[in-house]
Amino acid sequence: MSNAAAPSRPQSKPVKAPHALSECLPRQLPPLLGASKAQLSDWVQAQQQPAYRGQQLHQWIYQKGIRALGEVTVFPKQWRESAADVPVGRSILHYRSEARDGTVKYLLQLADGQIVEAVGIPTDRRLTVCVSSQVGCAMACDFCATGKGGFVRHLACHEIVDQVLTVQEDLKERVSNIVFMGMGEPLLNLENVLMAVRSLNEDIGIGQRSITISTVGVPGRISQLADYGLQATLAVSLHASNQSLREQLVPSAKHYRLEKLMSDCRQYVAQTGRRITFEYIVLAGFNDKPEHASELAQLLRGFQAHVNLIPYNPINEVDYQRPSPQQLQIFLQILQRHKVAASVRQSRGLDRDAACGQLRASQLEDNAVLVQ
Ligand code: SAH
Repeated sequence: MSNAAAPSRPQSKPVKAPHALSECLPRQLPPLLGASKAQLSDWVQAQQQPAYRGQQLHQWIYQKGIRALGEVTVFPKQWRESAADVPVGRSILHYRSEARDGTVKYLLQLADGQIVEAVGIPTDRRLTVCVSSQVGCAMACDFCATGKGGFVRHLACHEIVDQVLTVQEDLKERVSNIVFMGMGEPLLNLENVLMAVRSLNEDIGIGQRSITISTVGVPGRISQLADYGLQATLAVSLHASNQSLREQLVPSAKHYRLEKLMSDCRQYVAQTGRRITFEYIVLAGFNDKPEHASELAQLLRGFQAHVNLIPYNPINEVDYQRPSPQQLQIFLQILQRHKVAASVRQSRGLDRDAACGQLRASQLEDNAVLVQ
């Protein structure tokens, strides 16, 4: 888990996108969460209500955080009662834990009983939410707690948006940034992720530039994403400076070679005009040697990229080691000497199962104590 990735700057004129984010809408209602104003207006009219009630409903869902239609006190009593069971699509808070640095981890229970993880990361002027895009993950990266548990299912659009509203309501502060760095691989659930990004942007008002979608790479999907011309930041979890090292950490890399991943990234930058953030988890004695830093700098030559170095956060199942601050500094300095923009990401909430999927994993083991 992490702070927000560095913001991207445009570096070339983007090509006109063939698809529009505004068209990424839930196919049917209810649940109502994730729906646009226009969709809610159509929906209320289908319930024999005037169109302006759609506007009211939008406000009550996204600003007042209703959990059931019956809570909308401005609606006629009779309709409220008859529609009381219409699902809004909110989750139940299952577990909450706050770290000393203010980071708050949440486990949310979904309608089918599945549990998903979200994290709120307050910093000086920002509130970042790290959201999950799937229950579990199929990518099985060797250092990742979520990967160890396997894939369960995709999250629907409303289940992603709900995570953001939950953190916003709990911390009583507007969410400013979103990172898709929780459980799951967003590009394997691209349709729902795009719907959620639309809703976060248009319904909740979070700027696209403040949204980061993190991927370990799925063949064909980076170019698919580029076709939406998003202003969001793409973060690519690289983790290694060459193919053989990467294959050891990221099993899916066997089917998506580094050269192809990098050429897709170059194409993405050319098409969208957006800079890419590369994530590099630093594992002591494994991918943190000076030659790896030089190799990484070579790989990113001519790329206006930003590298986020992420010190490994230990998980139970594997025995990688966290690098020392000195090792990290040496790695960072080599990148900087090669004119590669890079920074070390501070691990937040380390005292409480900080990394991706760790909280859920440890809670499932312990048979979690419920909040409510
Ligand atoms: N599947 C996507 C999104 C998941 S978030 C992706 O791979 O990008 C993945 C991020 O979680 C990684 O880039 C890494 O920054 C972080 N992460 C996962 N396990 C970690 C661990 N044990 N220690 C530190 N960071 C970890």
